Amino acid sequence: MVYAAIDIGGTKIAGALVDDSGRLLVRAQRPTPARESAEVLLDAVAAVLDELAADTRWEAVTCLGVASAGPVDAAVGTVSPVNIPAWRDFPLVERLRARPLLPRGVDPVLVGDGVAMTAAEHWLGAARGVDNALCFVVSTGVGGGLILDGRPHTGRTGNAGHIGHISVDLEGTACPCGGRGCVEGFASGTAIAARALATGWQPPEGQPPTAATVARTAVDGDPLARAAFDRAARALAAGIAATASLVELDLVVVGGGVAQSGDLLFAPLRRHLAEYAALDFTRDLRVVPARLALDAGLIGAAALAARASDASHPAPHPPPTENSR
Ligand SMILES: [Zn+2]
Repeated sequence: MVYAAIDIGGTKIAGALVDDSGRLLVRAQRPTPARESAEVLLDAVAAVLDELAADTRWEAVTCLGVASAGPVDAAVGTVSPVNIPAWRDFPLVERLRARPLLPRGVDPVLVGDGVAMTAAEHWLGAARGVDNALCFVVSTGVGGGLILDGRPHTGRTGNAGHIGHISVDLEGTACPCGGRGCVEGFASGTAIAARALATGWQPPEGQPPTAATVARTAVDGDPLARAAFDRAARALAAGIAATASLVELDLVVVGGGVAQSGDLLFAPLRRHLAEYAALDFTRDLRVVPARLALDAGLIGAAALAARASDASHPAPHPPPTENSR
């Protein structure tokens, strides 16, 4: 079996042909023309698809999974990625359906990138064999998804598990989502760098004021940099505790660029979680790093699309609901 997958993010558009054991057979990538028009963006997606279609295995493709930065509306097939301004309620599924090169019978299956990452970690990564898990990515933003009762829980529009927009501060600052005091406003890479700068931290000479630089100086012992990471970890811990109280989790999986700082994030995260998750059924929750890193979006999109097109597919995923068609 050969599955096709596309993963659309704010900086790159990746595509792959994936086999039924989750191996990437061929991979294509273009930079995301994020400041260009809706049509130029679609052309970039098409260029990635065209490159995959040039592979001899394209004819064997049975499904196409499309993961996109959110928000997405899988129920109607539209995307409105925060970091891609020209796409607002953009009818991505309808436009891809109109592409002549899609193999016969293949209908694009749209999923949010957090849900895709979660499906991938459940299929082949850190959440393999786990029935109830929260998986999320901490990078430019904070996005995630849920495994409940052994299956990805996508929600009606494909956005369930969006821990980044749980409010953890009643009087917090306004969030671009329209809410207030969201986890993302404390824990995204952008937020960590902004917090560090606001408290007087300065990047070393010649280095950019990014979360990666904050991380490097934190490892060297800079107290302001460490405090910014601690605050991010605390917000994440509160969001995890809320989720664990609602649905009972067995495992939490954390991926993304900021999570690659390792113990700098994981140590305070586990410490604060002990403070916020105090009920018997939420205590001692395991928090582990994601395993699949960069290609999780592609692998998860392939798995969810495969399951949608063939319920007998071995990947442990349910078919997306009728809505996602
Ligand atoms: Zn928000």
